[in-house]
Amino acid sequence: MAFEGLAQRLQGTLQKITGKGKISEADVKEMMREVRFALIEADVNLKVVKTFVKTVSERAIGQDVMKSLTPGQQVVKIVKDELTNLMGGEQNPIQFSRKSPTVIMMVGLQGAGKTTSSGKLATVLRKRHNKNPLLVAADVYRPAAIQQLETLGKQLTVPVFSLGTDISPVEIVRQALEKAEKEHHDVVLIDTAGRLHIDEVLMQELKDIRELATPEEVFLVVDAMTGQDAVNVAQNFDDAVGITGVILTKLDGDTRGGAALSIRTVTEKPIKFVGMGEKMDALEPFHPERMASRILGMGDVMSLIEKAQSNVDEDKAKELEQKFRTQSFTLDDFLDQLQQVKKMGPLDELLKMMPGANKIKGLENAKVDEGQMGRVEAVIYSMTKAERNTPEIINAGRRKRIAKGSGTSIQEVNRLLKQFEDMKKMVKQMSGMQQKGKKKMKMP
Ligand code: GDP
Repeated sequence: MAFEGLAQRLQGTLQKITGKGKISEADVKEMMREVRFALIEADVNLKVVKTFVKTVSERAIGQDVMKSLTPGQQVVKIVKDELTNLMGGEQNPIQFSRKSPTVIMMVGLQGAGKTTSSGKLATVLRKRHNKNPLLVAADVYRPAAIQQLETLGKQLTVPVFSLGTDISPVEIVRQALEKAEKEHHDVVLIDTAGRLHIDEVLMQELKDIRELATPEEVFLVVDAMTGQDAVNVAQNFDDAVGITGVILTKLDGDTRGGAALSIRTVTEKPIKFVGMGEKMDALEPFHPERMASRILGMGDVMSLIEKAQSNVDEDKAKELEQKFRTQSFTLDDFLDQLQQVKKMGPLDELLKMMPGANKIKGLENAKVDEGQMGRVEAVIYSMTKAERNTPEIINAGRRKRIAKGSGTSIQEVNRLLKQFEDMKKMVKQMSGMQQKGKKKMKMP
């Protein structure tokens, strides 16, 4: 996971101070020395580290904290506030222009994830903002890049405008804007060319496109795994072309976090989105406060709820509740549940969003066995409809057949059936309690 090392060190350092009834200046100094090391080790820009340490120290040694009844907790809150500030404070939404279409330019070095992010952003625009985007393939140097965008467009059913590689990018953009107006696209998303290194020609081309298209947003796409290089790239692009925001990709990898924590302060441009995977739905708005919470092990309940909301089908949830009540819950429903949870993303990532999950013994570095889930699915798939509806009919012969069909063992089939039975019993008990104690107790 991203930020793992930093999170561990900061949490360890803060834990020492949290419960303290009294804090001296020396305590704060000692803590800040460790915080400083942790940030440097996470590849955070040195200037940023210095300013951060200074600000937190000043606030922590302030009168209010020292005199407070819970100085330790106050200090932790200050660290969280300042981490949030470091990453830009508030979440920074996409700006749409008053006149249509809104033009968004995607810029960045090759391999940063520009084309992938263009596809993802088109999805966000359509799903979350109800827009009708037009993607524009303006990378005339790499035919493969145009093809890649066209494939993404087909997959997402978002139209892609391209004119091949024999025509200047500025001309492509000019014609794309005409088309957008004619066909009522309210957002034009331009995927520009990338290079392996920053060079004059590229920058001039981007400036020319910018001049013609007057974009509302110029998003720089950078790879979080490249750490301080990403920060330098951001600075260079901003100086040469001018950017309005950053999309930080590959935050699902094990980046140390330096780019995420430095870019805002160094460039004064907000991180607007983060890439959390290769799939087209893996682009999330960047929330500095939630990220700070996650780094400090305080969980990220808001993101967890949003993930559940966007992945769980409400009607299905209601139907399921009804089934629970009437105890007509079958193995098919169980399978359905399993698949809904899986859609929310890797389970160990979800676990990390739960506050305090890192403090539960054994859960700190929990790796959820997703293979096990796959085997459970296989077992259920190998059952007949009748067996899924009435597991009681699954006798020894059937168990043998199911184990063979799913490539598992009889023990695994037994285990699943037992778990399912236990769950049913528990639901029965709970609904019994609910009936009896309707006035006395409220069930969650
Ligand atoms: P471009 O040259 O900047 O257009 O880069 P691409 O969009 O072709 O992406 C380069 C590689 O990075 C591809 O293999 C993408 O699947 C991958 N990639 C892009 N964004 C992410 C991300 O957020 N997470 C992960 N894990 N991979 C990503």
